[in-house]
Amino acid sequence: MDYVKYNATVRPTKLAIRDLAHNLVLSYSEFEDLVARCATFLLDRGVVAGERVACLSRNRAEMIILHLACARTGMIFVPLNWRLSEAEIYGLLDDCQPRLLVADQLAKALGIEYFNIDELLEQASALSPYQSEPVSIDTPSLMLYTSGTTGRPKGAMLTERNIGETALNFALLGQVSIGSVFLCESPMFHVIGLVTSVRAPIMLGGTLLISDAFVPERTLERLGDPTLGVSHYFCVPQMALSLRTQHAYDPSQLKYLKALFTGGAPHSAARIMEWVHDGIPIVDGYGSTECGTVFGMPLDLDIIAAKAGSVGVPTPRVQARIVGPTGIPLATGESGELQIRGPNMTVGYWGRDEDYREAVTEDGWFRSGDIARIDKDGYFYIVDRKKDMFISGGENVYPAEIEALLVRYPGIKEVAVIGIPDEKWGEVGCVFYVSDTSEVTAVELSEFLSGKLARYKIPKVTQRIAELPRNSAGKLLKSSLRLQYRDNKEVSVA
Ligand code: ATP
Repeated sequence: MDYVKYNATVRPTKLAIRDLAHNLVLSYSEFEDLVARCATFLLDRGVVAGERVACLSRNRAEMIILHLACARTGMIFVPLNWRLSEAEIYGLLDDCQPRLLVADQLAKALGIEYFNIDELLEQASALSPYQSEPVSIDTPSLMLYTSGTTGRPKGAMLTERNIGETALNFALLGQVSIGSVFLCESPMFHVIGLVTSVRAPIMLGGTLLISDAFVPERTLERLGDPTLGVSHYFCVPQMALSLRTQHAYDPSQLKYLKALFTGGAPHSAARIMEWVHDGIPIVDGYGSTECGTVFGMPLDLDIIAAKAGSVGVPTPRVQARIVGPTGIPLATGESGELQIRGPNMTVGYWGRDEDYREAVTEDGWFRSGDIARIDKDGYFYIVDRKKDMFISGGENVYPAEIEALLVRYPGIKEVAVIGIPDEKWGEVGCVFYVSDTSEVTAVELSEFLSGKLARYKIPKVTQRIAELPRNSAGKLLKSSLRLQYRDNKEVSVA
């Protein structure tokens, strides 16, 4: 019995899903019935176990129903990032070779065959519910493409065991329960959407509200609306910042929120503390497409304040260690590569065995590509991405450390630091900043940072920018900044 079937048995009339954009409301028994009929629909279309069902759609209930129908029949659901260019979407379709593409009108422009998602529930409802032996929970049911922040997106295959582990751990972090109302606005082609935000409430018999877009003003209204009673919300730090900077932002309106989760990208201690001062339970966590929920802060404002800047402790049954360049585990406080192991971890990259072998050590540790450290109390801190570190005068410099200080500089709204070539030092830091006020010079920043950072870490160059380049998940694209620096060297030099 899976979680939806279980909840449909023990609480059939409980509200499971409310799709805010499509005016669809489903109790657990209605939800279960549609999953079972949709499984028949997929089999009737000729899809067989092991084949992929791709989906190109903005968030909607049908995506969850399709995914669970795939899980019941051994098929693999592949939600695609609709914000990608047409060429990139063709690339992903070519990579995963789906038997069926289910899509909304977004697919029209692609000029390829697809089944219209608007017709799914009506067609499936006319079929009989699929009933058969459960599929092993170690069978992949979902393939999510990584964000492609550091290279070409890779299709990480996740089993129901992986997904269940992540959902349960995430629920534990945020104290999600039967009474919770989770608003999912994160795109369902990401692990933050379809796995954590969706599966955690559904697993525990809570209610899931589905929104098809993040519109900051509307989100604030929804979070403060007593008729919705949203208790949980998950967004990337970039979205959290845009909520705070709305005119309508008023912390007293957010009193129903039991947890505002952030993750997916660095969230500086300074920004976290702004939420803490407003009394909002902000829970930062670390995860990835491959490993789901790995770390999280406990839901306790005193601990969150004391450990601001940390991503928390490993979730149950997830192992994490910090290793040096030779793979030897490092001592407390030392920075090295973060490696992860446990039942949450992907079972492979679709069609890219070589990449998977490179990503995982012989004894099963996933090389995250992130540099991290642990403090004496066992709390983890993400220092930076390995690929973003640069070397100045022979010393390692982690841009994230500098960025976390620079967000406090008056007038700087957003900031990113990259290493750029330098004749004397090999590489030096270059600060890209967004500001509504005046120009900030490298000399001013150098004065601000002096005494806070070692001299070799202090950036020598600044460049003002209208906005930082981000991908559809809100992740900063430092590769674009490097190109931008190369093409435009008009900068302020210290
Ligand atoms: P690709 O693997 O294709 O380059 P990606 O690494 O961005 O893309 P994702 O799985 O979307 O793929 O993101 C995982 C990464 O996001 C982590 O490895 C880490 O660098 C970053 N990340 C996630 N959560 C946090 C956090 N709380 N703090 C800092 N960084 C985070």
